[in-house]
Amino acid sequence: MNKPTTFADVVCCGCSCLCDDLQVVVDANRVTQLTPVCPHASSYFAVTGAAADCRIDGKEVSLEQGISAAGKMLDAAKAPLLLGLGEMTIDGQRAALDWADRLGAYVDAGNPAEPDPSGVVLQSTGMITATLGEIRDRADVILFWNADPQTTQPRYMERFALDAAGRFIGGSRTAMAIDEAATATSARAELFCESPVSANLEFAHALLALARGKTIDRERLAAFPQIEQIHAQLAAANYAAIICGPKFYGGADGAAILETLADYVRELNRANRAIISLLKSGPNWIGAAESIAWRTGYPSPVRFAADGPAFDPTGFRAAKLLARGEVDTIVRFDGDWLKATPPEMLAALEKLPTISFGWSDFDVPAKVAFRVAKPGVECGGSMHRMDDVPLPLTPVLSTKRKTTEAIIRQLIG
Ligand code: SF4
Repeated sequence: MNKPTTFADVVCCGCSCLCDDLQVVVDANRVTQLTPVCPHASSYFAVTGAAADCRIDGKEVSLEQGISAAGKMLDAAKAPLLLGLGEMTIDGQRAALDWADRLGAYVDAGNPAEPDPSGVVLQSTGMITATLGEIRDRADVILFWNADPQTTQPRYMERFALDAAGRFIGGSRTAMAIDEAATATSARAELFCESPVSANLEFAHALLALARGKTIDRERLAAFPQIEQIHAQLAAANYAAIICGPKFYGGADGAAILETLADYVRELNRANRAIISLLKSGPNWIGAAESIAWRTGYPSPVRFAADGPAFDPTGFRAAKLLARGEVDTIVRFDGDWLKATPPEMLAALEKLPTISFGWSDFDVPAKVAFRVAKPGVECGGSMHRMDDVPLPLTPVLSTKRKTTEAIIRQLIG
């Protein structure tokens, strides 16, 4: 009888923290123990379902038949769209972009459930940011703005924030929170400001005005006394970290909000150190944005064309293309993002002929559906943590399933 195998320092792809300190015990090709405990990690390392490697219209077929059918669908496509790149490895993303280039396809590398203008803002105005390790070691004042890592990234606090020991922090940290309602994270804050997401732009402008010593109409913002307190704490910090969740930058004016906050943080840096850190949800959306920028020079979304890639920050977004009926075939890389995708977008996706690649059972229908090896569980590769740090994945379970990259390479020929 085989003995259980223990893998050390395994990277977890259960969320964007990509914790790289897991100990995983495997017995009879099943994960039987995970430490430290994290509910999201337990669910990520559970490989569920026994779906066939490939199905056409729900019926099991050979991989070769699936590859041939997918090739024919794309030969007939005039405007394919690739989306969902953020839960695959960097190698898979590179293969997908090679494929998109050959197809002349649209690629939206952002999370459809979380519009993210940060790629555009980083290229247009820039943003002062930091690694999670630096936040852990130096941030003595932390503002969580529409961010609830206590719920969404269960080990964030113990690894990088309020419950982590900071190498260069003498006393305790000060936590503040701004959100539209109380959260598990705001419950830990010394100062909580309840404010609707729609007020974020005005809030950020008020902070910027305070930092620049401008006169402000105090009557315009009900939360002004709290804004003043928040600014006072951030300005007095040795090292202030502003952690923003997807709701913060995901609205229609997300780019303007992020740019205003970036300006504010530049002002704070005249006297002390301050940074912005974006709390993405899935494991490799930052890698997807980077893969597309390495390949095209543009942030997502792009369209590959014979005379080179084109970029349109709003017009090429998957939601916009689908609403306008401008795509005729979908290549979908499935993952947890599908659970949070707005229903109207899912409905639009389901109407189009689709080729899907996924590592769980086929929840959302597809004409041709490939079941692939699960990154960080059944196959290796690398992903980029939310702060751009690349981390190598360990395959802890053996499988005969192919990786997304391998199937794409076979399709490209
Ligand atoms: S916090 Fe996220 S990356 Fe870390 S162990 Fe939990 S699910 Fe995995």
